[in-house]
Amino acid sequence: MITKHTYVGGRPRPSGLEPFDKRYPATGEVIAKIEPTSLEQLDEVIAEAAEAQKAWAALSGTERGRVLLRAAKILQDRNEALSRVEVMDVGKAIAEAESGDVPSGPDALEYFGGIARDMPGTFHTYPGAVGFTQRVPLGVCAGIGAWNYPTQIACWKAAPALAAGNAFIHKPSEETPLVAYEIADALTEAGLPKGLFSIVQGDATIGRALCEHPGVAKVSLTGGVDTGKLIIKQSADTLKKVTLELGGKSPLIVFEDANLDDAVGVALSANFYTAGEVCSNGTRVFVHRSIADKFLAEVVRRTASIRVGDPMDRDVHVGALISETHMNKVLEYIEIGKAEGATLSAGGNRVRPQGFENGYFVEPTVFSGCTDNMRIVREEIFGPVMSVLVFDDEDEAVSRANDTFFGLGAGLMTTSLARAHRVADQLQSGSVWVNTYNICPPDLPFGGSKQSGFGRENSRFALEGYTEVRSTYMDLNNFEGAY
Ligand code: NAD
Repeated sequence: MITKHTYVGGRPRPSGLEPFDKRYPATGEVIAKIEPTSLEQLDEVIAEAAEAQKAWAALSGTERGRVLLRAAKILQDRNEALSRVEVMDVGKAIAEAESGDVPSGPDALEYFGGIARDMPGTFHTYPGAVGFTQRVPLGVCAGIGAWNYPTQIACWKAAPALAAGNAFIHKPSEETPLVAYEIADALTEAGLPKGLFSIVQGDATIGRALCEHPGVAKVSLTGGVDTGKLIIKQSADTLKKVTLELGGKSPLIVFEDANLDDAVGVALSANFYTAGEVCSNGTRVFVHRSIADKFLAEVVRRTASIRVGDPMDRDVHVGALISETHMNKVLEYIEIGKAEGATLSAGGNRVRPQGFENGYFVEPTVFSGCTDNMRIVREEIFGPVMSVLVFDDEDEAVSRANDTFFGLGAGLMTTSLARAHRVADQLQSGSVWVNTYNICPPDLPFGGSKQSGFGRENSRFALEGYTEVRSTYMDLNNFEGAY
């Protein structure tokens, strides 16, 4: 059994605290022991990060970018091995890990490595004086991750933070503590100086300590809405900058003029990818009444062919949920849906694949006949549960789609360009996908509106989020004071 520790200065450091168990979601077996970071250790980690950050910030963006580009290449070359670790962490299907979450990490390193050299300021002229602005790093920044996309979350936060000249401390979710070490190793091999990327382990205790610590300038959380609210409170005394990537209950609207095959395919992947454990999933599927029966029949038919089982099997589509507790929460929501009067059209049960009987698997599940006020329609389930709702006209679809305190993603399926623009423009969410879903290239911002959070991952907006603006005013003449 391996034991993993706090990682700082390019090497693991024991804390002596009682380790916690890391279980493989597909079997429930303990596969690693993780030693939480102690509060005394956290002081050391932050002090080392602050020291290392000074020299890192003094490098040119080009020099910093080169390190990130080398790390990206290392991770790309290790995609298969890294994906296996990711599967052990999350329980998701390997085919998905290899093509989705895992490559998206080095994609971010590559993108931010490329633009690190290009952080323009502004230039201003005045009579006898000039002014200019610069983007300057914040200092030591921290990431706190959710468990569904551990490679992506670590890299989406670390890459812009490091590119901008900060040091970065990552706290992965206590459910998925493993894959961050692979990223740390790649960065160290790529030549990232010691102390610039550290891993601290543990639950809310260490997360809270990161928020409260005066040596941390910014915290970026990916997690639930309630955790986001706590992060703001905990960061208030030190007035930290905060980015919040929170939950969702996103709508996917299927209009009568949509390509039906595409609409069904999009609805399935917007609900069952990563066993539904995707924050931006389109879990409220609004379908125009004129095509609703045909759409549902196809959804049910294609759901039956989704293979659930051994996540390491390349032919498996859907792996395990993260934990027994989470699986039970998802199963409970399925019972709530039935009790609320929704029609269970597909799935609805725990699955016990041969050889993986103790794993946390749930069938892809489809509810039809749903209404807007049902709990399964209003609350984030974060599992493979699709709710199908019927609408009659465009205005109604838009207003029902927006009737939620979440605002992370939204999708619409139509062959009308005019409708695509018109509807996309009215949806209250950080991202809108037309005729596709959950596509997040690194140069396009990703993040929430309303209670799905604020701040952005990816793009120049993320880079800017790890900087502040310094204004310099330079007088070119002798000073003529009033005294
Ligand atoms: P969570 O909120 O329970 O935990 C997220 C992280 O916060 C964990 O690392 C946890 O240890 C830490 N944490 C918990 N309490 C804390 C506190 N008081 N102070 C500091 N840190 C604390 O979320 P989860 O169950 O790990 O992940 C699922 C949630 O994440 C879902 O709501 C999902 O929608 C959301 N999510 C959002 C995005 C996005 O980009 N918007 C992406 C993935 C997941």
